[in-house]
Amino acid sequence: MVEIKQLNKSFGEHHVLKDIDLQVKTGEVVVIIGASGSGKSTLIRCINGLEEYNTGTLVVDGHGLEPHGGSQKALNTIRKEVGMVFQQFNLFPHLSVRRNIMLAPMKVKGMSQAQASDSAERLLERVGIGNQADKYPNQLSGGQQQRVAIARALAMEPRLMLFDEPTSALDPEMVGEVLDVMRELAREGMTMMVVTHEMGFAREVADRVIYIHEGRIVEEGAPDQVFDTPQNERTQAFLSRVL
Ligand code: ADP
Ligand code: MG
Repeated sequence: MVEIKQLNKSFGEHHVLKDIDLQVKTGEVVVIIGASGSGKSTLIRCINGLEEYNTGTLVVDGHGLEPHGGSQKALNTIRKEVGMVFQQFNLFPHLSVRRNIMLAPMKVKGMSQAQASDSAERLLERVGIGNQADKYPNQLSGGQQQRVAIARALAMEPRLMLFDEPTSALDPEMVGEVLDVMRELAREGMTMMVVTHEMGFAREVADRVIYIHEGRIVEEGAPDQVFDTPQNERTQAFLSRVL
């Protein structure tokens, strides 16, 4: 589903991603961990074309996304196929929950209003808030808003879901309800890349954990392997701070 080879990305002089090699298979759940500023968000954002990269290759579901300066024919296709959920939920505040979810399928996929509305209701059921369709985002809790954001991403029937610290802005009591939805998605076979500090979730749900240090993948493996017997001293130091 994702094939990244020797990807490098700089912001000006600042070399942020270094020789990233990473493959994600269909149905796989990959959790990315690492200190703040290590490049996790930049990597995730490159994968759906929100950031351009400088060198290397990046292929998502068979569509090659060219580095900076290349043609970007694949970009629209990739954005349709890849769902993204951010730390800040980024819902449209002036639209009802239902309208938030209907917008992209109607605009991008040409779905009819009736179809999009039905689909929105089904998706809200799926994320456990079927009764909130006609509320506005600010009438919902953070956990509910993030579940709407997940439903909105799913409305495009993505082949890959990217999550960038989806629970970091939530009050602690709401973290669980969002992780539950993500756990269920993983169980249903969705291909997922998740940046998170929720190590319990990573251990339970991830097929593979990747540790990034200063823009480089320095460790990767099955969760038990990375958490219980990390090989790299940087990983050990990081885990001893967060676990
Ligand atoms: P993480 O998500 O692991 O905290 P980021 O990918 O957000 O890390 O950032 C990696 C590095 O790139 C940081 O040093 C950050 O300051 C820098 N950076 C991120 N986005 C930009 C940008 N748009 N312009 C310049 N520097 C950036
Ligand atoms: Mg980040």
